Amino acid sequence: MGIVVQKYGGTSVGTIERIQAVAKRVAETRAAGHQLVVVVSAIAGETNRLIGLGQAMSKTPADREMDVLVASGEQVSSALLSLALNEIGVPAASLLAHQVRILTDTKHARARIQSIDATRMRELLDAGTVAVIAGFQGVDKDGNITTLGRGGTDTTAVAVAAALNADVCEIFTDVDGVYTTDPNVCSSARKVPRISYEEMLELASLGAKVLQIRSVELGMKFGVPIHVRSSFSAVEGTMVVKEEEALESVVVSGVACNKREAKVTIQGVPDHPGAVAAIFEPLADSNISVDMIIQNVSKEGTTDITFTVNGEDLVAAERVATEVSKAGGAGGVLVDDGIAKISVVGLGMRSHAGVAAKMFRLLAAEGINIEAISTSEIKVSCLIRERYSELAVRVLHEGFELGKKPSTLPPGLA
Ligand code: ASP
Ligand code: MG
Repeated sequence: MGIVVQKYGGTSVGTIERIQAVAKRVAETRAAGHQLVVVVSAIAGETNRLIGLGQAMSKTPADREMDVLVASGEQVSSALLSLALNEIGVPAASLLAHQVRILTDTKHARARIQSIDATRMRELLDAGTVAVIAGFQGVDKDGNITTLGRGGTDTTAVAVAAALNADVCEIFTDVDGVYTTDPNVCSSARKVPRISYEEMLELASLGAKVLQIRSVELGMKFGVPIHVRSSFSAVEGTMVVKEEEALESVVVSGVACNKREAKVTIQGVPDHPGAVAAIFEPLADSNISVDMIIQNVSKEGTTDITFTVNGEDLVAAERVATEVSKAGGAGGVLVDDGIAKISVVGLGMRSHAGVAAKMFRLLAAEGINIEAISTSEIKVSCLIRERYSELAVRVLHEGFELGKKPSTLPPGLA
């Protein structure tokens, strides 16, 4: 009898009726002969509400107290679901992170799980009880409550599945799977039955917000099959699996768009060893993660350096860039929030030339200018004006024929 881990997100537990519907679904899975651990998010909107309360109390709220505050959302939904299960005759018990012992590091609001003790969950399962775990939260070595970052319940679920060596981690959400692109932008977007962890990681980091990135990393590391599916229907969703098992051997599997990126340019940076380090060290020290970096060819001993950051970090990035520009004798700083990063992703790029060229041609045909480019083994990204982002998504989706069901030739032959 296999263990199944099911995660229900905020909208899935959004109302009393929905929690009751989740309880029914859990009961059915259990009746089918599975041992079941359920991981729940806070009720939709609750985490934002709690953050708002904390911010109303203090402009600079202590991270430790904010974690105590926001972790309460998941505590509430784990208790409510356990009650709903008991009501329909299913033995269930809620467990908070300190009761399971989901041990994390001490970085509040973005803690990482270090270990999970499976003992208590196994005792419940062996007694025929459904374990209902509060997602998103952890506990550090000193017993402080921590949280795993927004969307962290996905990571709790996959980590729990890894700790229990579960057959599958089912992520129930408000979409019914992973699509070739955002169906709200492109009507021919198609649900993919399977996708590799690698592709999913790229898509997640590019702004397709189905799973928290960390959960995909953990799934890949521990080989946990992740099934992304809808809590509102019974249809199969998308399996996130090992590369060998991702059957669709297509060159490009998805188009992603991230409108949140912003661009910073430092002009006239003196071109000598150490100049670039002197820019990016203070950014790293300020916890600003940098995505693309472009350094121009040097003219007359100076060069322009452009990089992108998350839009939320733009103000801080501009401040740091202005400081380093002054300190290093550079010419000044330009910032630009009106950009979007558009990307095509696919494992098949490893063995197929010409994907980048085709992407550039498709954008050019629409008169969309490319402002910067970056590539990885399985991804090509271009910065474009934000106002063209939806057009670009549609054009690339069509150009790479992602709306069509691919043939299933062996890798390399598609
Ligand atoms: N409740 C948390 C959030 O809204 C964690 C989660 O839902 O995954 O980010
Ligand atoms: Mg989520």
